[in-house]
Order: sequence, then C-alpha cells, then structure tokens
Amino acid sequence: METKVYKQKDDNLKELAEILKAGGLVAIPTETVYGLAADGLNPEAVKKIFTAKNRPMDNPLILHIFEIDQIYDLVENLDPVYADILSKLWPGPLTVILKKSSLIPDEVSAGLDTVAIRMPDKKLTRDLISLAGSPLAAPSANISGRPSPTSAKAVLADMNGRIEAILDGGDSKIGIESTVLDLSVSPVKILRPGYYTQEILEEYFGQVDLDLALKDKDQTPKSPGQKYKHYSPRAKVVVFMGDDDKVVNEIKKISQDQENIGIMVFEDQVHKFPESEKVISMGSKDDLSEMAHMLFESFRDMDEKQVETILVQGVEEKGFGLSIMNRLNKAAGNNIKYII
Ligand code: AMP
Ligand code: MG
Repeated sequence: METKVYKQKDDNLKELAEILKAGGLVAIPTETVYGLAADGLNPEAVKKIFTAKNRPMDNPLILHIFEIDQIYDLVENLDPVYADILSKLWPGPLTVILKKSSLIPDEVSAGLDTVAIRMPDKKLTRDLISLAGSPLAAPSANISGRPSPTSAKAVLADMNGRIEAILDGGDSKIGIESTVLDLSVSPVKILRPGYYTQEILEEYFGQVDLDLALKDKDQTPKSPGQKYKHYSPRAKVVVFMGDDDKVVNEIKKISQDQENIGIMVFEDQVHKFPESEKVISMGSKDDLSEMAHMLFESFRDMDEKQVETILVQGVEEKGFGLSIMNRLNKAAGNNIKYII
C-alpha cells in the first residue's frame, strides 16, 4: 500500500474522512504526539491499528472525540461534576478512563470494562473527527516500542506502506503523550503521567492519587501500556541523575572512553562538551517544555546519526519532571545511573 501524505486543506480533510469511513488508517496530528487513527466503532478497522503498529492486543486504545457531547454514547454514565471539569480541561492533553457503554468494541478496550477518551486540542484534527462521523481510536503512530512520532516525517519513517494516509499538521506542540486519569475509581488516579501534573489536576478534582506502579517498579501498572518497554530508539539509552557537575563529569568520562556516543544535556551544560552534532541541548532545566518537545525527535535524530549509546541528563521526578522521567526510564529500560 502506498502511504499518501496530505497537507492541511479542507478538501483533503474530506478525502481523509472517506478513508476513515471505509475502515482505513490515517495518522493524525495532535498537540501531544501523532496518533494512528481508525473508526473507533468499527472492530475490523481497529484491528488494523494493532497490525500496523505491531501492538500487543492487550493494550487498549484511546478514543478521540471532537466535542464533549460525543462522550455520552461512549460511557455508561458521566458524573455532571466531572463533565463540568472536562469542559474546562478539554480540548487538551488529558485522557480519562470511564466505564464503557455497549457501543465500545472489545478491540478498543482490550476486553476491559472501561474506555479511554480524549478531546485533542488541534482544531484541524477535531474537524476531521467530526467529518468522519465516529470517535477515532488512535494510539501513538509509531511501531510499538519505538519513540512516539511528533512530526509527519517521523510517522512516515515507521508507517510508510503500512497505512493509507498521514495528515501533516506540523510539529506536535507538547511532544509527550496525554496524562491518563482514571475517573472510574475514587479518589481518581493518574495511570500515566503527562502534561497535566498531579498538582494541576488536584485543583480541579480534589484528591488525585498516583498509580503505585509509577513510583515502584515492582507493582503491576493498571494501564496495560505501562508494562511494556517503550519510547526506545535503536541506540541504547542511559540516564544520569544527580548534581549537574558530577553528572556532566561522568558523561564526559564515558564519552571519552567510548566511540559513537550521543549526549543530551540541559543548555547550561552544553558548553562543557566539544562542539558536535551528537551533543544536543534539551533547553532549560527550569522550563521542561523544551525537553518534552524535543525528546522523541532527538532519539530518532540520534538513530539517523548511527549513534550506539545515548547518555541523557535526567530531571527530578516531580511535577512535569515525573512525566518526562516516566518516558526516559522506559526508553532506557530502567538503565538509570545515580551519580553521588
Ligand atoms: P498510546 O498507546 O500511546 O495511545 O497510549 C494509550 C495508553 O492508555 C496506554 O498506556 C493504554 O494502556 C492506556 N489505556 C487505554 N485504555 C485504557 C483503559 N481502559 N484502562 C487503562 N488504561 C488504558
Ligand atoms: Mg504509544
């Protein structure tokens, strides 16, 4: 199959909606990462997502909606208090888990009695969902295990020949996936950390718990996707935690002894390394949005440069840092070095 890349145009949206209605696969831009979309109420179309991504069948998908009213057919019941909060946080990088209605195919929920739902911020994509006439099931548009794609080019690198089309909506603004919040339990619980932190969500929901597995590797995560190795470039990833100077000295030592090393450090540390296209700045430690924005793209970039090992400066696991470290820990297969 030839994968066609479409630019943002009204006529193109109509054509893409037809592909989706016919049960085809279209990669869609969102503010978090690119999604691989199919008609979420068509089991045969949904199955194609698992094949194209090589995704384990026990890992459920997020349904993407274009307006809040669309949620009522998809869930058993939505507490009006939650509906009110969602109307404030949506559209945006928040996915909620609720008891599913009988409309939801088992392929979407991987046999669970709950369903994950999100309304993406990108207007273009909401317009496409509206035209498709159905919620769109869409996991990240990468081959399972690889870094999530934040550009149409990255989608094409993984999905060329495997899907009908890609809608090129430019770079994803945020760069890491949505926060997954379980509203089917009380108190509500974060199953995957993302752009919305525990602190921000507590302003809306009151007490918000963290799934124990997010802090303790020996616990089984409630979100099936969290148990897999994920976000990994071909290069080996090692994360370094600790005082800036000590971490940088350690990274320097290793990079002097070994060949083909990629280095990702915060901007105020970059000048300590020889100038090289394999030394990448992650922006400021005080504003992690740049790090989130460039993380997956930089992994892919290092692979293109045939780097064998990527040494990354880690961040404290609090606030948005918890979400970023969640991705880094998985990319590194928990290869974290604490330098003291
Ligand atoms: P992605 O594969 O990048 O789209 O991420 C979707 C995440 O949402 C995965 O970690 C899934 O396991 C999780 N998820 C989807 N549906 C559910 C559900 N019903 N209950 C718990 N986690 C879910
Ligand atoms: Mg994913």
